[in-house]
Amino acid sequence: MTDPDLTTNRSISKVELISRWRRKHPGQPLPEKMIGKPVRTMSGVVPVTLLTKPYPCPGKCIFCPNDVRMPKSYLSAEPGAQRAAANNFDPYNQVSSRLQSYYANGHTTEKVELIILGGTWSAYPLPYKIWFIGRCFEALNEFKPDKKLGAPQISGEAAWPRLLKAQKINETASTRCVGLSIETRPDFITLGQLIELRQMGCTKIQIGIQSLDNRVLRLNRRGHTVAATKKAIKLLRSFGFKIQAHWMANLYGSTPAKDIADFKKLFGQIWYRPDELKIYPCSLIETAELMNYCRKKLWRPYSRAELMRVMVLVLPMVEPYCRVSRMIRDFSSDDIVVGNKTTNFRQLVEARAKNIKEIRYREIKNILVKPDDLRLEIITYTTSIGREKFLQWVTKENQIAGFLRLCLPRVEAPVKELAGAAIIRELHVYGHALALGGLGRTQHSGLGKQLLAAAERLAKGYKKLSVISSIGTKKYYQKHGFKDGQLYQHLQLVD
Ligand code: SF4
Repeated sequence: MTDPDLTTNRSISKVELISRWRRKHPGQPLPEKMIGKPVRTMSGVVPVTLLTKPYPCPGKCIFCPNDVRMPKSYLSAEPGAQRAAANNFDPYNQVSSRLQSYYANGHTTEKVELIILGGTWSAYPLPYKIWFIGRCFEALNEFKPDKKLGAPQISGEAAWPRLLKAQKINETASTRCVGLSIETRPDFITLGQLIELRQMGCTKIQIGIQSLDNRVLRLNRRGHTVAATKKAIKLLRSFGFKIQAHWMANLYGSTPAKDIADFKKLFGQIWYRPDELKIYPCSLIETAELMNYCRKKLWRPYSRAELMRVMVLVLPMVEPYCRVSRMIRDFSSDDIVVGNKTTNFRQLVEARAKNIKEIRYREIKNILVKPDDLRLEIITYTTSIGREKFLQWVTKENQIAGFLRLCLPRVEAPVKELAGAAIIRELHVYGHALALGGLGRTQHSGLGKQLLAAAERLAKGYKKLSVISSIGTKKYYQKHGFKDGQLYQHLQLVD
């Protein structure tokens, strides 16, 4: 966008306008209308997506694209992949350049969620993973909007002490990590892996479950069973991780009716019930093995009407405690041989579906809301390890302004540190990602504090209330009486 510069009679870019405004009003938040694509940080946090280096995945899934320039499952034309390749997959430069771009477009960069994508994280060598995460934290700690970035590095020297030092600095840095996720497969979720991920500061796991039907998993050469998915989700939950499941429609061997029945299990059965969901209808990519199946007429994409019907029927099945983060992949239409190419497919589905309850549809966005106009609602559901309480602040219209996920386990804790603990798995209050300590529209209005107090009451009978905090939210919980443990923070509960 350009605006006329009246003093020099030339057009200036939005970025330049923002920069001038900041120079004139140092320390003040930018007027909302000046922010470019405000929806990007509408949920209160700046999401920074970055990719690991190209590396083979142990999976052999027939629908998965093969692009040697990319980590498995990604295509070079996807926007996130393009940014990663432009930085030669260097984590430091990926984080820094993305934040610089956000800042230049008027977003604040104090609270960052790191979303690490690429094949199966657990299959990468440990030294690479330590180096990668360490460099992400260093990029946050050293972030400057106008810093000139050095030559990108694809790998480097790994050391736990260096990573831990960077995490320590990040606890009080001006750009803090308030969430960190990786993606992996169910059969790679082990006790050792999850301890390692907590040491790295991870709070959310994206897990490719794809189908809850063993026959479909086998036909698509997923290499794991439904039992592995159940076991993985159970372990993730007992560690308190936030669980984002990936589920696919239109896989080889499935039908619209089978997909609908499969999806029903996601929320109907205690084994699954994810916190977030990515729904990916299968698209045919030239380099995927599925191409051969299509040529032999063994598989075909659903017609637009079939796919629409499946999505319109499954979306209302998503329970109010789950957020549907995505409904289609970011593949460019040039890469899709056959399959859905409509980029606003989600909007079309939402316009047709009835009674949508999922979180993203109900987020308060930038609507001004007074805490008095909100009521606290508690949803209780059973999981494979006990009960879960989803506490949500909602308006009269059922829009959501904040929530807390409280896990009340009834099974033995996976690590000693969590023995006798109720676990806060997530606390989120919506509002623009204003500066830490600043006054947002709904953030910092005491809603988070009240959610914590309610969680403490609901955890009665447990020895302590533990939280799977991010490195950058530790100070917040310390302020509310939590003490640092090894992998979690804890509040001792009195009888
Ligand atoms: S596990 Fe994931 S990344 Fe690996 S082949 Fe299967 S779909 Fe692709």
